[in-house]
Amino acid sequence: MRPAASKPLAPTLETGLRDLFGLSEFRAGQREIMDAVVAGDDTLVIMPTGAGKSLCYQLPAFVREGVTLVVSPLIALMKDQVDALEARGLPAAFVNSSISTSEQNDRIRAMERGELKLVYVAPERFQSRAFLDALSRVHIGLLAIDEAHCISQWGHDFRPDYRRLGEVRVALGEPTTMALTATATPVVQEDILAGLGLSTANLFVRGFERPNLFFEVFHSRGNDAKIERVVALMEEHAGQSGVVYCATRRQVDEVADALGHKIPDVGRYHGGLGDRDRDEAQDAWMSGARPVLVATNAFGMGVDKSDVRAVVHYNVPGSLEAYYQEAGRAGRDGKPANCLMLFNHADRGIHEFFTDTSFPARETVLSIWEQLRRLGSGTHAVTPAHIARKLKGVHVLAVETVFRSLRYHDHIDFGVRDGRGWVAVTDAPGSALRIDWAELNNRRRIAQRQLEDVVQYASTRACRPGQIVRYFGGEASFGDSCGSCDACSGAPSYAMRIVMESGRRIRSTDSMDIVVKKLLAGVARTKGRWGAHVIGGMLRGSRAKKVLKARLDTLSTHGIMASMKQDDIVYLLDVVERHGLVARNTHGSLSLTQEGGAVMRGEADMPASLHAVLEVTLSSSKRRAAPAKAKSTAAAKSSDTVVRRAPKAVSTSGEVAATYLETLQLLNDGRSYDEIARRRDLTLSSVLRHMLLLTANGYAVDVEQHADAAVLGQLREVAADWSFGDPLSPLIAALDPPVSYTALKLNLCKLLQERQSGIEKK
Ligand code: ADP
Ligand code: ZN
Repeated sequence: MRPAASKPLAPTLETGLRDLFGLSEFRAGQREIMDAVVAGDDTLVIMPTGAGKSLCYQLPAFVREGVTLVVSPLIALMKDQVDALEARGLPAAFVNSSISTSEQNDRIRAMERGELKLVYVAPERFQSRAFLDALSRVHIGLLAIDEAHCISQWGHDFRPDYRRLGEVRVALGEPTTMALTATATPVVQEDILAGLGLSTANLFVRGFERPNLFFEVFHSRGNDAKIERVVALMEEHAGQSGVVYCATRRQVDEVADALGHKIPDVGRYHGGLGDRDRDEAQDAWMSGARPVLVATNAFGMGVDKSDVRAVVHYNVPGSLEAYYQEAGRAGRDGKPANCLMLFNHADRGIHEFFTDTSFPARETVLSIWEQLRRLGSGTHAVTPAHIARKLKGVHVLAVETVFRSLRYHDHIDFGVRDGRGWVAVTDAPGSALRIDWAELNNRRRIAQRQLEDVVQYASTRACRPGQIVRYFGGEASFGDSCGSCDACSGAPSYAMRIVMESGRRIRSTDSMDIVVKKLLAGVARTKGRWGAHVIGGMLRGSRAKKVLKARLDTLSTHGIMASMKQDDIVYLLDVVERHGLVARNTHGSLSLTQEGGAVMRGEADMPASLHAVLEVTLSSSKRRAAPAKAKSTAAAKSSDTVVRRAPKAVSTSGEVAATYLETLQLLNDGRSYDEIARRRDLTLSSVLRHMLLLTANGYAVDVEQHADAAVLGQLREVAADWSFGDPLSPLIAALDPPVSYTALKLNLCKLLQERQSGIEKK
């Protein structure tokens, strides 16, 4: 006969939610998940921390028959949850190593008698045959596996005890099973199902969409720009709570110092501080006395503050799991908040260092072991620092990791006595290392992979929340565009203010449109192989070694921005990147995005946000640029070319641009050249010159129907060194059979277009 208390305590989920838990409504996803569980379906639930996973098994536990067994590795959490349930008068308990064996037995018997509906169990309990036997006499209505990613070798938190849960499930008679975790990529999801022996399960990826959070990534070259950005963000939320996560303790100190000079009430928190200092920093932050906290990832666990308005990652985080968890601490109250990731390629190094020291390569382990073995038997006054000094390129932290691993496998012992470090080789001489190389290697690869995923996230101009949801194996409800990230809606207002207030003014003889097109043409012509500095040099007409070696001086875009400073061009390249026209790959090379290509060809307008930024940044000088005199006649021929090209391109813009744009307008309206000439009272030859000029400046002019393959083929050869502004007569002379100037100009337009899109063969 089934004991009374294993009967449901509430007839439906609705009544249970209200009467047992005192809650008024389900959170996003909870209801459908619980429906599946109550219906007896196996489920895999992936929801971010704090989204309310616990209720997804707690409430069904009291609505279903039988006992719900919850497997959790977190002993402290078990106690908290059971306390909370008991406080509501709900029959729950936990069984783990924190209580005596006889107490554990009492609870198992209570379970058998049906006096408990919800029992938390630590996974290692299942090692006990007696425990499993006792459970076999209990009607288990639901098996809930919390922190289910611990099953997966691919998870960051693999636990061997979790690996046996598949067998445990069978031993319990395959009850309805539910696996829950905050972090599971599709690979990990498969591992979880396989580990539990579930061939199918309902997958619920819920709660990763946080529409009140604005996600953005800011690519920055240096610390000054990072600090400026953080200051602007914190000023936007002045007096309200923010967290700035840094990768290292030292970085926390540096950033806290730098911020402290610019904004009031900055606190700091990291593992290097004493308990007192840390508590004090946390309290001051919680109370709002010191609202901006600079911290390592040691901060935040178990901290519950709903009105955090900004979470900044000053350094790129090590995984998207960690990122989402930390960033997700913003805006718990549902009001708007910012999640800003600052990205700098150099920051990767920090994580590569973490990976190297946490999961040292096999050679590193072997070389350290060799050093230790050489010491011979007995106890030696040797520390990891001593060993690190002997081995070039091995960091002391890596040695410490290896020491711990060797001790874990009973090869050595070490410690500190009277303030002096010692180590003893305890293993028999000549015995082989018992380190699990495959596992070590695996961990290393996982860490590397996770970092790559973050870099990918930061480098991709796709909707940020969309990327996150997909990463966790879900599908975004909003489709391609969330409307609340920098990829979808451009830089947020506080960031625009930096530009407005930075006072950065770049003098340009070109119109804003032309500047952008030149930048884009420069990026297009370097074919994704170069970073902003080299491209900047090329556009400026630099003859620096790097530019010459890459033969960038031979490009038609070499020197088209000769009137600008290198610094300014690099800055502008950053700006167009930030507005999505240019993408930076993981090595820092720039290429055009689809949108960038469209803007360059004149098929699309530049984004309004970019327009706004450039309006304040660029001050166009009306004065016609004086044709730059060749600085020295001894200058190399191609430098001569630079000087020749730049002013021509420059002089076409500004005050004269309007007439060309008028022609362009008519072309776009589909008017014939003759008609345009008539309307504008120009000669046909002028109209064609306009077209050439527009094309040279990257405007899309449709000449497709006039392009002649034979002429074009010859032009690719004879006009290889020709650039806009150079005389046409040598080309006419070189073409065979001869062509008209009209035909030449039309084909030259086509040639210029080819060059810009980078398809020209050279
Ligand atoms: P997770 O396990 O997903 O990290 P928890 O289950 O601990 O999150 O839930 C986080 C908080 O949300 C808890 O304080 C919980 O009581 C609360 N919570 C969960 N569901 C609801 C709900 N439907 N209504 C109100 N509060 C809820
Ligand atoms: Zn988006």
